[in-house]
Amino acid sequence: MSAVQTARLMDGTGLAGRIIEEAAAKAAEIARSTGSSPCLATVLVGEDPASVTYVRMKQARCAKAGIRSRHIGLPATTTTAELIDTLAGLSADPDVHGILLQHPCGPHIDERAAFEAIAPEKDVDGVTMHSFAAMSFALQGFVSCTPGGIMRLLKAYDVDLAGKHAVVVGRSAILGKPAGMLLLAENATVTYCHSRTADLSAFVREADVVVAAVGRPRLIRGEDIKPGAVVIDAGYNPGNVGDVDFDTASTRARLITPVPGGVGPMTIAVLLAQTVDAAANQLGRSTPVSEGHSVHDGEQRAE
Ligand code: NAP
Repeated sequence: MSAVQTARLMDGTGLAGRIIEEAAAKAAEIARSTGSSPCLATVLVGEDPASVTYVRMKQARCAKAGIRSRHIGLPATTTTAELIDTLAGLSADPDVHGILLQHPCGPHIDERAAFEAIAPEKDVDGVTMHSFAAMSFALQGFVSCTPGGIMRLLKAYDVDLAGKHAVVVGRSAILGKPAGMLLLAENATVTYCHSRTADLSAFVREADVVVAAVGRPRLIRGEDIKPGAVVIDAGYNPGNVGDVDFDTASTRARLITPVPGGVGPMTIAVLLAQTVDAAANQLGRSTPVSEGHSVHDGEQRAE
C-alpha cells in the first residue's frame, strides 16, 4: 500500500491573489488622491525568450492591478556603463516608482554594478546591497521578492519560526541567502546548505522548516523530511517539478508548498505590492507599507 499524503498544501495562488487585490486597491487609492498611478520600469538586455516572457507576464499583471509599466528593451550588445546610465536615469525619474532589471543580463554585464545603480527607494525587486542589508539588519526596506513571498506564506499559515531549525538549501543572492536572513529575523536558527555541503540529508533530517532553493529536480528526498516539518519548495525545474520529491515529502510534512502554485505566484505578488508601496512612499501617501519581514500587518489568513 502506498503512503498517503498527510501534509496540508500551502496555497500560494490563493494568497498571491489576495495580495494583488490589496495592491490594486492601494494603487487605485494612490491614483485617486495624487492623480498619478504607480509605475514600474522593466529593463531587459537582449531578447532571451524566457526573459521576454517573464517581463511580459509582469507587465500584464501590473496592468491588471492598475500599475503602469514602462519597458526599456536594450540590445544584447549593451555595455555595463550604458546599462548603468539607463538605470540611473530611471532612478532619477520622478514618474518611475519601481525598477526591475530582468536578469541574467548576459555574461559581459557586471550585474552587481548594474543592480547598484537602482535607487534603494525604487528597488522593488530587492536586489541591491542596500536591500540585502535591510533584510539582514531587520530594518524597513524592500525584500527580495521570492524570499519575501516565502515569509508571507509562512505567516499566512501561522508557522511560528522562533526557535525552530530552518535549513535553507541554496545560497544565491536573490533567493537562498536573503531567505535565510529573513528567517533569522524571525528568530529561527538557520543553517545554509549548498553545493559543497557534506551530507545534505543529515541537515535536512534535522530541519523543522526546509526551504529548497536549488534548481535540481527532486533533490530533497521525502525520507529525509522530519515528520511534521514545514517544507517550502522554491525550485522550479522543467516539467513543473520542484526541488523536493513532493509525493514522498507530503507523506511526512505538516505543511508543504506545491509546484506549481506554491512559491511561484508569490514572487510576482510581492513585486506588485512593493511597487505600490514604493509609489506611496515617493508620492507622499500614508498608505501603509506592505508587510516587510519585521512588520506584522494583520494580513488575511489563508484559512
Ligand atoms: P542558483 O543561483 O543557481 O543557486 C542555486 C543554489 O543551489 C546555489 O547556492 C548552489 O550552491 C546550490 N546547489 C546546487 N546544487 C546543489 C546540491 N546538489 N546540493 C545543495 N545545494 C546545491 O539558483 P536560484 O536563482 O537561487 O534558483 C533556485 C531555484 O529556485 C531554481 O529552480 C529557480 O528556477 C527557482 N526560482 C524560483 C523563483 C520563483 O519565483 N518561484 C524565483 C527564483 C528562482 P553553490 O552556491 O555552492 O553553487
